[in-house]
Amino acid sequence: DGSLRKDERGRTPYMLASEREVRNVYRRFMASNHDKWDWHAAKVPSALTKEMEESQAAKQAEKDAKRKARAKELKKLRKAKEKKAQAEAAASQNDVKAPGDTSARKGLSQPSGISRMSKEEQLKAAQATEREKRAAAAERRMAAAAALSAQGNSGNSAPSSSQPKSTLSGDSNCSCCYVSLDGKIPFHRYNYKYCSTTCMHLHREILEDG
Ligand SMILES: [Zn+2]
Repeated sequence: DGSLRKDERGRTPYMLASEREVRNVYRRFMASNHDKWDWHAAKVPSALTKEMEESQAAKQAEKDAKRKARAKELKKLRKAKEKKAQAEAAASQNDVKAPGDTSARKGLSQPSGISRMSKEEQLKAAQATEREKRAAAAERRMAAAAALSAQGNSGNSAPSSSQPKSTLSGDSNCSCCYVSLDGKIPFHRYNYKYCSTTCMHLHREILEDG
């Protein structure tokens, strides 16, 4: 049992075994031979049972899994960052007009600058769509008004269609459907003249819609 004796400075082999694995060998041995040796004298602190080792291994596995997950997360973040950088590079290539302008913008915090830009663009696009919608709606109303007026006074001044020709004399055309007012008594509202009350109402709606 030389393995349990102290050396001349009172240190036991366990104390001298700095390597964790070597120490574990002693502790494993202690677990299976608890009664054979004076473990207290040998200064081996506790037995290392199979269950303890297994639970330690499980803990280690858990740690490894966490580290792996963290690494994965970091990788994902890095990839997203790269993707964003690429998108920004592409975007700044797209709207490079004045080099000085871009460098000035790069001086600011890039991400917020870019996102603000795209927001402005989105807003512009939305406004353009809205304008188109309104124009289409106005056109529909004018066409409806023209159709109405064409029905209302069949044939008299048929040739003048609903084509907008406001540059032609504003005096003699309906302000809404632009049908000729020659020979008619127009309806007045402000400075406008209309072929019918229908046109008057429609035009007011169009004006109010802005
Ligand atoms: Zn009219």
